[in-house]
Amino acid sequence: RTYALRVSCLPGNPPPGAVAVLHDVTELRRLENLRHEFVTNVSHELKTPLASILAYAETLRCGAIHDQENNIGFVQRIEEQAERLHQLIQDMLQIARVETGQETMQIVELSLASAARGTVAQHADVASRKEINVHVECSEDATIQADEDGLNTVLDNLVSNAIKYTPVGGKIVVAVRKTDDEAILEVSDNGIGIAPENQPRVFERFFRADKARSRAVISTGLGLSIVKHLTQAFGGSVAVSSELGNGSTFTLRFPLSAAGDFPPAVNAGPP
Ligand code: ADP
Repeated sequence: RTYALRVSCLPGNPPPGAVAVLHDVTELRRLENLRHEFVTNVSHELKTPLASILAYAETLRCGAIHDQENNIGFVQRIEEQAERLHQLIQDMLQIARVETGQETMQIVELSLASAARGTVAQHADVASRKEINVHVECSEDATIQADEDGLNTVLDNLVSNAIKYTPVGGKIVVAVRKTDDEAILEVSDNGIGIAPENQPRVFERFFRADKARSRAVISTGLGLSIVKHLTQAFGGSVAVSSELGNGSTFTLRFPLSAAGDFPPAVNAGPP
């Protein structure tokens, strides 16, 4: 922001005609700090799994490959860390595309109920391995205007988080309902919950409420940031309500689609 400030003259003197130009650097500095923080986080998040992969590979090379009891375990650790790196790179590329508006989206009318059912079906195996019951409540459907891949990414992130952060034997409900002008989708779980002070922060890039626990699951801290950007690109909003130890509910609200009125393609645009 730039302010032009006319320097006032003393009473009785002719105006000096001087103009002082002040630049407000606060916003520039904030963006620079964000960029710096992002690069630091990315380097750290990339280095950690890479260091593990190198250490396990070296251990195998230096003899552990002949250790019948442990060698498969070491190879599995390498696979897990490589999967973590892969997920991180995918999430970073997607967030960069969405934030810079390079994610070209095909906006069409979509049924929230069928998107919800599709996502839940895709996660059925993982959920059943943890004996988690995933229930879909779609007694009514709601149509919104969104990009199909984008909406699937949003749902995928919310449902996979619900599974990740819910202990064995838990319960997840994916519900669709609508008001006069809004389509509402809720993903609720009875998992570990999020402390009140962390709830506003979970949509920030790289934020993880419990880093120690996050190491036990594949966690990049980018999923909910992607959810927020995509939801906003579809004209919607996302909110969380949660109680530590008692579960979380993520609520998405979209404008109900006005039938027949949808543009062919848009860019996501900066949020
Ligand atoms: P990730 O799950 O990859 O760490 P996200 O951006 O999806 O990243 O989530 C950010 C953080 O929010 C998670 O690390 C976790 O601490 C918290 N979180 C997200 N979803 C849930 C949930 N359903 N229950 C409890 N905590 C959650």
